[in-house]
Amino acid sequence: MSNIPEIFGSLVFNDEAMKKRLSTEVYKSLHKTIERGTPLDLNVANSVAEAMKDWAIENGATHYTHWFQPMTGITAEKHDSFIEPTKDGNVIMKFSGKALIKGESDASSFPSGGLRATFEARGYTAWDPTSYAFIKDNSLCIPTVFCSWNGEALDQKTPLLRSMELINTAAMRVLKLFGNHEVKRVNTTVGAEQEYFLIDKHQYNKRKDLIYCGRTLFGAPPPKGQEVEHHYYGAIKPRISAYMSDLDEELWKLGVYAKTKHNEAAPAQHELAPVFTTTNKATDQNQLTMETMKKVAEKHGLVCLLHEKPFNGVNGSGKHNNWSLSTDNGLNLFEPGASPQSNAQFLLFLCAVIKAVDEYQDLLRMTVATASNDHRLGANEAPPAIVSIFLGDELTAILDSLEKREEYDGTDAGEFEIGVAALPRFPRDISDRNRTSPFAFTGNKFEFRMVGSSLSIAGPNTVLNTIVAEELFKFADKLEQAEDFNLILNRIIRHTIRDHKRIIFNGDGYSKEWEEEAKRRGLYNLKTTVDALPSLISEKSVDLFTRHCIYTEKEIHSRYEILLDIYISTVDIEAKTMINMAKRDIYPAALKFAREIADTINAQKAVGVSISCRSEEKLLMKLSAKIDEMYDKIDVLETVVNDRAVNHIDVLKKAQYVRDVILPAMNELRTVVDGMEEICSADIWPVPSYGKLMYNF
Ligand code: ADP
Ligand code: MG
Repeated sequence: MSNIPEIFGSLVFNDEAMKKRLSTEVYKSLHKTIERGTPLDLNVANSVAEAMKDWAIENGATHYTHWFQPMTGITAEKHDSFIEPTKDGNVIMKFSGKALIKGESDASSFPSGGLRATFEARGYTAWDPTSYAFIKDNSLCIPTVFCSWNGEALDQKTPLLRSMELINTAAMRVLKLFGNHEVKRVNTTVGAEQEYFLIDKHQYNKRKDLIYCGRTLFGAPPPKGQEVEHHYYGAIKPRISAYMSDLDEELWKLGVYAKTKHNEAAPAQHELAPVFTTTNKATDQNQLTMETMKKVAEKHGLVCLLHEKPFNGVNGSGKHNNWSLSTDNGLNLFEPGASPQSNAQFLLFLCAVIKAVDEYQDLLRMTVATASNDHRLGANEAPPAIVSIFLGDELTAILDSLEKREEYDGTDAGEFEIGVAALPRFPRDISDRNRTSPFAFTGNKFEFRMVGSSLSIAGPNTVLNTIVAEELFKFADKLEQAEDFNLILNRIIRHTIRDHKRIIFNGDGYSKEWEEEAKRRGLYNLKTTVDALPSLISEKSVDLFTRHCIYTEKEIHSRYEILLDIYISTVDIEAKTMINMAKRDIYPAALKFAREIADTINAQKAVGVSISCRSEEKLLMKLSAKIDEMYDKIDVLETVVNDRAVNHIDVLKKAQYVRDVILPAMNELRTVVDGMEEICSADIWPVPSYGKLMYNF
């Protein structure tokens, strides 16, 4: 392995590269833009572009691209080369400030949910200087946001950046009240732990379901599942280990702080955790991580599956979104304090999160709602679909006593009496961490565990930032007007605990009792994407987002339609793939096996050993029954998939139809086929078994 500090960030136009290549003046004004969002002067942009181009060419780049994150969840890019013809028939390498700042993009093929009328199918991309440019596949990639000509956001980054500004404003107001005048900015930080599966490329190529859908649509359980969970933190196989070090190196070059790697609970499942960074960078880096994971896998003859549930009956993959707030002078606002003052500040920020998560449970749930994540949430291995907060017994007890104090003497003493003089440092031991909780406080940050492995973290963090900012603003309103600061502070903390403690749950999130208890507490239990998505367009949600200028009402509705559309088309592709595999591969194979058995029986009968045909006849009967049943189930699925009447109903009803009619028909077909796989010869089975996919490499 090469020298790590040397290769780290070698493909990134980072601060070091900027300092080296820009004049002091240009560097300073670029920094002002990065830190304060002041518009960039065109002359400055020209100098930056020139320096970026020279740096990129020296590092092997020939092209540049605006790199953006449309609503499809993956990144998009369109490459232009730097070359420009000269009069004498040669070329020069050119890159202007204009090309750096703004790009036109024929965006008609990206989902816009009706935002872009057909007469103006173009959108534009605009440079986001807060995230570094980098080189990938010989192209200089410039992180950008993506908007329609009317300024409506067509991507994931624009609202995220808006929400980061919002929470900065809100948190700054609160910090000032506590006398923190040195702080200039509050940033949200995120470390996104990424789970993934690796399987052999040859096996992958034999399965249409993996190729078209990223998950298996059929597959009987292997003799050995994950009952013995020895894979977790187990020794890493050499082939996987080689992959992981290659991946680390590629990520380091791109300035991604890949830090921890280990095996996960399921066979063939692994995890990569980065060192956290500001949310916009973490979002870009997570997209780059997913892309690099796939690319490096190809080199090793492997395929990286980022689907939330590639295999039935085996743990799915998620992304733990570790989220916190930190100041520009290095203070983590969720680090319990050592003095009564910082203690109170910690409790107030904590209360903002408790209130936000309780008030907007449905919105948080909505941010992780996809067809693929539906297979994972609530499946006894991932957090349930019910949103709750884990605080641990210690912190919960402190909140309890704070709340009760008021009940005891019935007065607001006005004394500064929040908690004990110093809060204990909360243990961050993995062993006693409650992994069943969807939203866990883990010492100095919150871990939102419902995010699906393939999902962009932009959406969940946009909502998280916005709802916490909303509560911080409300607290600040009250505190700024308070005559007696401590009295009002006390009251806010106590009342928040009293009114929102129903969201706190430290027990087993997988248990049936919790589902019942949550219902008694009045918490949402939005089991599917179709149940969760309408929260986005609720009056409360529209009010929240428009008031804070995160989304316009039009943007909200367009996003809602896009998300429903994606849900519908995902399942549609799966259903069609299932029909294709069932009719063209599995059914014929089963017939062939039946024929083999029949031939055996006939051959035996011909030589007069009829007695010994008992087992063959039994097997043939069993198989024939399943073949018939399979034929019927294919028929049913085909009928419901091709029902034309559905084309004319509105998009929500269509999604409900998909959930209530198509998915159950798919499950029924699968059950028959998986049962058939168990009695068929492995030789004739047309696709690799679960055992081969997960254990054989
Ligand atoms: P684990 O959850 O596996 O025990 P850690 O708690 O050390 O591991 O960290 C998990 C993830 O949380 C890492 O990606 C780490 O960078 C991230 N993380 C740690 N501190 C913060 C923070 N203040 N803000 C955001 N993410 C953080
Ligand atoms: Mg974790």
